[in-house]
Amino acid sequence: MARTPAWPPASLPRLYVEGPLGPDMPIALDRAQANYLGNVLRLATGDDVLLFDGRHGEWHARITAASKKAMQVHAVTQVREQETVPDVTLAFAPVKKGKVDFLIEKAVELGVRHLQPVITERTIVRSLNLDRMRAHIIEAAEQCGRTALATIAQPIKLERWLSTRGDGALYFADENGGANALERYAPPPATILTGPEGGFTDKERGAIRATPGATAISLGPRILRAETAALAAIATYMAGAGDWSD
Ligand code: SAM
Repeated sequence: MARTPAWPPASLPRLYVEGPLGPDMPIALDRAQANYLGNVLRLATGDDVLLFDGRHGEWHARITAASKKAMQVHAVTQVREQETVPDVTLAFAPVKKGKVDFLIEKAVELGVRHLQPVITERTIVRSLNLDRMRAHIIEAAEQCGRTALATIAQPIKLERWLSTRGDGALYFADENGGANALERYAPPPATILTGPEGGFTDKERGAIRATPGATAISLGPRILRAETAALAAIATYMAGAGDWSD
């Protein structure tokens, strides 16, 4: 006997809205969202979408008014509870523009809760457009099905960050070698730290290793690009101690 298809179908478009989302809540979409649903996906009044606001889970909503430049939707029912993503922070030395976008997007898909840009001696990119980063965070969350948005902080110098971060578990991806990550990872909260294209200086390496809670980890015998290292470290953490085996 054919199974009743699950509702809502996973194929429904998912959009992040400021919210707050609640029953019978009218939401005016912004121009870009109206254009995407109306002109790209050709959706119209009466069609269904999924909404999330980063705090109240995921909601089935219906388009109640649509024009070329504007669209109104109405939240109907909550279809998924608000998730709790693992308390994992990626502290990363920003890399060049296209690659940092990739790094942010992958960190969100892999389930990171917080992103902390860290400026090291050899960091080439010393400032970030956080609005652009937040737009990538939202886009990645819409695509991967997160209901919790990742947060991103202002860039901070490495020394200052080390002295203010507290003594929580810090997994320092050291290209000069370290422990077998999977043997050392402990359940969250945890921070993963990766360096810039030029790597860490010996002085920085010494300061990081001396930080309370720090463990140098190896990501294998090859030298990974900074964005690959961040992705590999998060993936192994999520598989070994994160929420991939929940
Ligand atoms: N200066 C380094 C070199 O050429 O030897 C390259 C740095 S690598 C491009 C950027 C960052 O990725 C490093 O600072 C480190 O955090 C991480 N990384 C790369 N390969 C790694 C490995 N095999 N084990 C641990 N971390 C690695």
